[in-house]
Amino acid sequence: MTFIKERQKTRKISVGNIFVGGEEPVAIQSMTNTYTQDITATVDQIAALTRAGCEIVRVAVPDMDAALAIKEIKKQIEIPLIADIHFDYKLAIASAHAGADGLRINPGNIGATHKIKAVADCAKSHGIPIRVGVNAGSLEKEILATMGPTPGAMVESALRNIAILEDLGFYDIKISLKASDVERTVEAYRLISKRTDVPLHVGVTEAGGLYAGITKSAIGIGMLLAEGIGDTIRVSLTRDPVEEIRVGWEILRSLKIRKRGPEIISCPTCGRCKINLFDIARTVEDALLNCTTDIKVAIMGCVVNGPGEAREADIGIAGGDGMGILFKKGEVVKKVNQDRLVEVLLQEVRQYESEQSHN
Ligand code: SF4
Repeated sequence: MTFIKERQKTRKISVGNIFVGGEEPVAIQSMTNTYTQDITATVDQIAALTRAGCEIVRVAVPDMDAALAIKEIKKQIEIPLIADIHFDYKLAIASAHAGADGLRINPGNIGATHKIKAVADCAKSHGIPIRVGVNAGSLEKEILATMGPTPGAMVESALRNIAILEDLGFYDIKISLKASDVERTVEAYRLISKRTDVPLHVGVTEAGGLYAGITKSAIGIGMLLAEGIGDTIRVSLTRDPVEEIRVGWEILRSLKIRKRGPEIISCPTCGRCKINLFDIARTVEDALLNCTTDIKVAIMGCVVNGPGEAREADIGIAGGDGMGILFKKGEVVKKVNQDRLVEVLLQEVRQYESEQSHN
């Protein structure tokens, strides 16, 4: 049984070695916030994103130095790279020549149709897709003048630009329709999903800092994915982009669409908790950040609900008075002093990982 509606059928495209759309898994992506021409910093951030589970990365290309840097960056990274272009279509062409696996353009600020055509011809000759990134804040002037920054206007802009590309025989297209509020974003994607089979890149743009950003992204992306809409997602946070990837995976896990790495269940604590659960949970979470094993770990403050949750987990602890009870696959393993709970729990996780890798 699932509460997720059947995924809407979209055409399948490839971004480097990652397929997007069709029956392919919903891909997770993010964007670097380094200066792209700082090759070392950009490559380091992409490596951190890759370890966190990022599958496609986008870099800003505000000038020719950034476009040219893509050639060297591409040699040092493992995941497909998309060049993000605003205003100057020549930067898109230079990025394609430098080896970008995809281009993201915002037709609202690229301007004349012949410029979009030049980008399409170039992308076609390199065999790379184009994402048409429509943003409520930068729609084409005439659409904005007649319709305002509405979901309908975003859809109109997207359809118009899909038509321009398809009239050129260019079909490797993704589309995004982003606004900074959940309501317009969700409505725009709902509308476009009825009008085209182009795969959809879903996200709430400029969502904000940690709390607002996670909340808006989880609601907006979550609602759409639950309705079967969305082929790739990007959580947008005013934070280290690695955190966007973590939130993205948690959204997919919560919806039971995809999972990666440990699921950590921990209680909020209450007056019954007699161990330092906050520190224990935070330390365990940090230690398992880049763990890719599918494992359920429960960290519970007491024996009221603790053992129940801990028993359902692969490995878990339930706190007692200055100590904790370690459970493994529903069985009590031992009592452990709270000073050693983290160490023992992590040992058990590593042991589980090694058993899984040998199965
Ligand atoms: Fe409180 Fe125990 Fe529930 Fe944690 S598991 S919230 S400590 S009753």
